[in-house]
Amino acid sequence: MIKLAKKYDVIIVGTGVAGLNCALNITPDKSVLVICKETPDKSDSYLAQGGICRLPEESDYDSYYEDTMRAGHYENNPEAVEAMIRGSQEVINDLICYGVDFAREEDGSLAYTKEGGHSRPRICFHEDTTGREITSKLMKVARSRRNILIVPYITMLDIICDDEQCYGIVVRDGKNGRLYKLFADYTVLASGGIGGVFENSTNFRILTGDALAICLKHGIAVDHINYIQIHPTTLYSKKKGRRFLISESVRGEGAVLLDKNFQRFTDELKPRDIVTAEIRKQMQKDGTDHVWLDMRPIPREEVISHFPGIVQHCLNEGYDVFRECIPVVPSQHYFMGGIRSDTKGATTMPRLYAVGETCCNGVHGKNRLASNSLLESLLFAKRAAQDIDVNYSPIDREKAIAAKNALNLAEYSNSAKLLKSYKQMVLDAIGQENIRCAEAQAQQQGEKR
Ligand SMILES: Cc1cc2nc3c(=O)[nH]c(=O)nc-3n(C[C@H](O)[C@H](O)[C@H](O)COP(=O)(O)OP(=O)(O)OC[C@H]3O[C@@H](n4cnc5c(N)ncnc54)[C@H](O)[C@@H]3O)c2cc1C
Repeated sequence: MIKLAKKYDVIIVGTGVAGLNCALNITPDKSVLVICKETPDKSDSYLAQGGICRLPEESDYDSYYEDTMRAGHYENNPEAVEAMIRGSQEVINDLICYGVDFAREEDGSLAYTKEGGHSRPRICFHEDTTGREITSKLMKVARSRRNILIVPYITMLDIICDDEQCYGIVVRDGKNGRLYKLFADYTVLASGGIGGVFENSTNFRILTGDALAICLKHGIAVDHINYIQIHPTTLYSKKKGRRFLISESVRGEGAVLLDKNFQRFTDELKPRDIVTAEIRKQMQKDGTDHVWLDMRPIPREEVISHFPGIVQHCLNEGYDVFRECIPVVPSQHYFMGGIRSDTKGATTMPRLYAVGETCCNGVHGKNRLASNSLLESLLFAKRAAQDIDVNYSPIDREKAIAAKNALNLAEYSNSAKLLKSYKQMVLDAIGQENIRCAEAQAQQQGEKR
C-alpha cells in the first residue's frame, strides 16, 4: 500500500494526457504526486479515437488557424490558437520520443487523416485508438521517473487555500476511506471534462467537474461554462451509461449521414455544432430517435486498418458496418469552458494551475475543432510545468498551516454527498450562464431594432 507524504513539491490532479505531460515536464529534482479518481485508464484521454492535429508544413499555418477560428465562431483567444499551432510539431516530436507509434506513409513520413471542419488532412493517428496509444506511452515513461508518484483511487475533495493562494488539496483515499490534507508548493488541476453530469455523454461517468465546482466555491474565475460540445455521431443505444463515439474521421474518410429513407441530408464535414444541428433537425422532421451512418463508401481495407475498434464495437452491438448502416445520435462530448487559465496554465489563484479539458484558455472559442484537444492539453500542460519551474518558490509554511487548520475534515466525511453537491453546482452554474447569455442576446437584439 502506498503511503502518502504530507507534502509534495507539485500535486497534479488527473492522469490524462494533461496531467501526465505536466508531470513529465516538471524538473526531476521536484517531487510530483499525480492522483486519479479510479484507475489511470479511466480518463477521456484513453478514449480519443480520431487523432491529434499537427501543422504539417508552414504553408498550412493560415488555413489551420482559420479552420480553428471558424469552428470556434471566432470567439477563440488568438494568442492561445497561435501558441497551439506553433507548438504542435514539438508536441508530436515529444510523443514520438516517448515511443508513440503514429501511422506512417510508405516513405516513413507521418500519415494524416481529415475530420470535419478541417480544410485538409493534418491529423496524426494510431488506428482508431490514438488516445490509448499516447496515454499509455506517457504513463509508461512517467512510471519510470523516480520523482513521479502516481496513485489511483485518490479523489480530490477540495483545495487548501486562504484568500491569497493555494497550499495543496484535501483528498479521500478510496481504498481505506481515509481523508488527508496534502501540502504542495504548486497544485495543478488536470481533472478533465464534465460529461458525467449529463445523462448522455461519451465521457467517463466519473468526470463530473469536481475541480470546476471547487473553483466556483472559492471564487476562482471560470469562463464560458455553458460552452458544451455535442458530438454529432455516437452509436445509438437504449442502454444506460457512456455513449460510444463514432469518430469524425470516419466521415473524414467518406462515411455519409442518411435520413430514415436512407437519403443524404447534410454536408458531413461541416464543424460539429452545425452537423449536430442538422441531425437534430432531421430527427425531428422524420420523427426518429437517430439517423443512419453509412461507412460502406470507405474502402474496406481502409476501414479494417484505420477503424478496427469501431468495427468491433459495432459488431458487439449487433451491427456489421460492412453490410449495413449504423444508427447514430448526438451526445455531450467536450467542454470548451472551464477554469480560467492563461496560456501558461495559471488560474486567478496564485500557486494553482489548470490544464487540459478542465481549463478554459479560450483556444477553442465556442466550439472545438476536431482533434485539437489532445494537442491543446499536451501543449499547455507542458507550458504550465515550465512556468512552475521558472517561478518556483516554496509555500509559506505558517500560512499553509493556518489554511490547513481552518479546514474541518468532518465536513468531508460524506464524500459521496459532497461530490453529488459539486455535480449540482456545475449544472446550476451552466443553467445560470445559459440564462445570462439568453438575456444578453435578447437585449442586443432589442437594441438593434
Ligand atoms: C470518446 C472520446 C473521443 C475523443 N477523441 C478525441 C480525438 O480523437 N482527438 C482529440 O484531440 N480529442 C479527443 N477527445 C477529447 C480528449 O480525449 C480530451 O479532451 C482530453 O483527453 C482531455 O484530457 P485531460 O487530461 O484534460 O482529461 P482526462 O483524460 O479526462 O483525465 C481526467 C483525469 O482527472 C481525474 N479526476 C477527475 N476528477 C478528479 C478528482 N476529483 N480527484 C482526482 N482525480 C480526478 C480522472 O480520474 C482522470 O484521471 C475525445 C474524447 C472522448 C470522450
